Amino acid sequence: MAVTAENALWCRDLYRFFRAGDEETLALRGVSLEISRGETVAIAGPSGSGKSTLLSCLAGLDEPAGGVVTVGGEQISHRTERRRARIRSRRLGILLQSGNLLAHLSLRDNIRLAQAAARRRAAQAPDELLEHVGLLHRARATASELSGGELARAGLAVALSNDPDVLLADEPTGELDGATEQIVLELLRARTVFGQGVLLVTHSPAVTRIADRVIRMHDGRIVA
Ligand code: ADP
Ligand code: MG
Repeated sequence: MAVTAENALWCRDLYRFFRAGDEETLALRGVSLEISRGETVAIAGPSGSGKSTLLSCLAGLDEPAGGVVTVGGEQISHRTERRRARIRSRRLGILLQSGNLLAHLSLRDNIRLAQAAARRRAAQAPDELLEHVGLLHRARATASELSGGELARAGLAVALSNDPDVLLADEPTGELDGATEQIVLELLRARTVFGQGVLLVTHSPAVTRIADRVIRMHDGRIVA
């Protein structure tokens, strides 16, 4: 496992503003949190409270106006785009509600591509990852050939391609039925025994139940 720092992820005093004409939205107003190795944390909160913005900043897909983010002991915020992309590819797994796979590539090639981007020897072969999520028999399928539940598990396999320190997921089970949601959650949980940190944005009680800790957001702040 590539985790070397005490915390899998931490951030301090994150601020993010959006301006549209005269209107200013304070999407994040001083957010600090940390996730230990092997810990699963859920983020809940009403729509518009800043959950997705927070995840984007933690993933280095967006830059906070203020504050610091480190992943596996390495600072990802306020770095060049290139550097952020490298850290993201090696240290983070990102799982969204949809769009986790490139449409024109097979499932196996999606994993190969993610591993090539990290530019180092992968800990697990593509077929091993596919086996882990129960999709080895679908290795040659593309996204449009997979069911909703298969897509969610495929997205997870891609997110885990580079044995990340942290898995960040934005409502990963939002469109799944209860039984499929349970399967995906069990797969997620299974990773934490390897020391991976997991941060999940969710509305689902099933997800908050499996979390070690639930963080609630309101108006760009953590409230509990
Ligand atoms: P959540 O994921 O909790 O629903 P978001 O992080 O998506 O909340 O949004 C937080 C606030 O920031 C909302 O008021 C939203 O309208 C605003 N916001 C998010 N992204 C943008 C953007 N790209 N441009 C302008 N406003 C945005
Ligand atoms: Mg959101």
